[in-house]
Amino acid sequence: MRTLQEIPELRKVLGEYRQRGLRIGLVPTMGNLHAGHLALVETARRHADVVVATIFVNPLQFGAGEDLDAYPRTLAADQAQLEATGCDLLFAPTVTTLYPHGMDNLSQVRVPVVSEGLCGGSRPGHFDGVATVVSLLFHLVQPDIACFGEKDYQQLAVIRKLVADLHFPIEIIGVPIVRAADGLALSSRNGYLSADERAAAPQLQRILTTLRHAIEAGEPVATALESGLKQLGAAGFEPDYLELRAADLGPVTATTREAVLLAAVRLGTTRLIDNLILTLPR
Ligand code: AMP
Repeated sequence: MRTLQEIPELRKVLGEYRQRGLRIGLVPTMGNLHAGHLALVETARRHADVVVATIFVNPLQFGAGEDLDAYPRTLAADQAQLEATGCDLLFAPTVTTLYPHGMDNLSQVRVPVVSEGLCGGSRPGHFDGVATVVSLLFHLVQPDIACFGEKDYQQLAVIRKLVADLHFPIEIIGVPIVRAADGLALSSRNGYLSADERAAAPQLQRILTTLRHAIEAGEPVATALESGLKQLGAAGFEPDYLELRAADLGPVTATTREAVLLAAVRLGTTRLIDNLILTLPR
């Protein structure tokens, strides 16, 4: 696997792939890779001839007071994992390479409505930063397919709309959440948890699962969510949001069947997100 940091070298290698008629799969990440990221690489391998992963801790998608400086940067370990998973090329640019003119007056991409509320409500500007860097990576790499995790459910919805609105000729593939054996969704931010917090964290998925069963069994959604907020609080989480939305993140209506239960919570200073897909009763 080759690692490149500069855009001209990246374009050269990609040009060679295209000349050989190879289908290119893209896996954008912020590094500190775990089995969730590697599932994206494996999925990309199944859908493309060559896999390009990117590692870039994108300052644009971090708000003031968020963990941009603390975010774990583990390039050597990431390279070893990508290589072992069959990634062909790693693009790991610096901030100056991607944003040579700075970020203050940068042209940005905004994806309305689907970016609002949920994580977009508690992290203003976050999805503008995501949509901007993903558009930039799509332009640079021009992949045939790109893989994103369902763990970041709203992000996946934002990217699907971005690709549809801006006519990117890229197939977006969503990859199911990879979890630890105790149910906790894998996340680079899990490394921030103390031993006690790590032991408590799987309660998030357990509470969501209880709610899913209750809602699927016909419990009124408002009652289930109210009970869910109490259960989250009792388990030591400070809930940011707990919502039921239609699978496309629109509001649940009388005809909605495919829905998603989404939560963001704080455990100590760590923000955790999770979601479960469910089918509403008729
Ligand atoms: P990140 O490095 O956190 O920006 O994540 C990069 C990509 O990996 C995103 O598409 C995430 O949704 C995906 N991802 C992160 N954690 C998981 C997980 N536990 N299961 C599946 N995909 C994941």
